[in-house]
Amino acid sequence: MDIVGKTIGYYSFNTITKVKIKKAMKEYSIVIPNSIYTKYKSMLAIYGLSFLNEVVNYYNNDLALTASICTSLPLNEKTEKKICFHLEHYFFRLIACWDYTFIALNEFLHTELISSKDIKQKIIEENFFVSIPVKKEGGYIEILRFPVSEEEKKEVEKKLKKELTVLTPVNLKVAINKKYEMTDHIRQIFELYNNEDAIQQAKTIRNSIVHSDSLTKKFSFEVSDLFKGQVISSKTISDTRNKIDLIFSSMEILKRAITLLKEMIILDLFPNRIENQLKEYYLHLIKCEKCNEENIIMADFVETLDHNPVCLHCNSENTKLIEKVKVSEPFYEQILMKFIEDTLEYYDQELEGIIVNE
Ligand SMILES: [Zn+2]
Repeated sequence: MDIVGKTIGYYSFNTITKVKIKKAMKEYSIVIPNSIYTKYKSMLAIYGLSFLNEVVNYYNNDLALTASICTSLPLNEKTEKKICFHLEHYFFRLIACWDYTFIALNEFLHTELISSKDIKQKIIEENFFVSIPVKKEGGYIEILRFPVSEEEKKEVEKKLKKELTVLTPVNLKVAINKKYEMTDHIRQIFELYNNEDAIQQAKTIRNSIVHSDSLTKKFSFEVSDLFKGQVISSKTISDTRNKIDLIFSSMEILKRAITLLKEMIILDLFPNRIENQLKEYYLHLIKCEKCNEENIIMADFVETLDHNPVCLHCNSENTKLIEKVKVSEPFYEQILMKFIEDTLEYYDQELEGIIVNE
């Protein structure tokens, strides 16, 4: 068989292997959340959900497929090269999926790190121009761009290079620590990434594929015990076996990390800002007996009243306390802002009424 036919053969599988791949993929999959599981959810949780779903889809489809191919093919001298070809993809995708998990965490927490060096460079270059929207005939808006002076360019570049931080797991942890309290969920995600042996081995394999050794090569670079220098060592089938053995544990560890992120988002377990760490936020769900509308009001406010809170929809005092719930800081603030707006509006209307009556 010619080389092209042989390489394309990497993608052909017999029926038994196909069945095995399908079965293995099912075992890896993470359940995709359709929505947030709590009705007490902040806008940040809703925003985080779309990023989470992308990560889960990548894990369930792209990564699980590659993992399942590697573990479903029988390993022998004939299949080894084919398995190594897919193993390389597995280690690339595994580390990429970890990166996407951290990007989703960064977006959910609004930590404001930049997702890649390329985007950082593009942001810097975009700031070399001043953009001015101009209204044209027919009402459409044209954006005119004017370059800034060379001197300003240098200043912008210097400032933004310092200000914009590219996302890496280390930078993300530092940024989260500066802004938020460390919750069990966040701590565990980083521990899984940094402390689990299978992930450390996977990172090393992935880096050596990128920089020096393809897994499909017949030899690899090693360090000699005797000469304390670099030597070339031929690969054995047991090297490949060891790499395949890493798949199950590395998939499980990543699944645990994504599941932790999933819990944070669908249960809105958003960390408090660092200045409010350990503070707990409670809201009261209230039902109006007159108009049947449900209201959510800050529990500490309800507790200062000597009567049931007034319905925010119909102003009736005939309300019933349904439940008191612990919520995230952003959701509490969201409800507080809404409550202040509604109250101001209510007093504005009352005031208008008084003025009219006078
Ligand atoms: Zn009402």
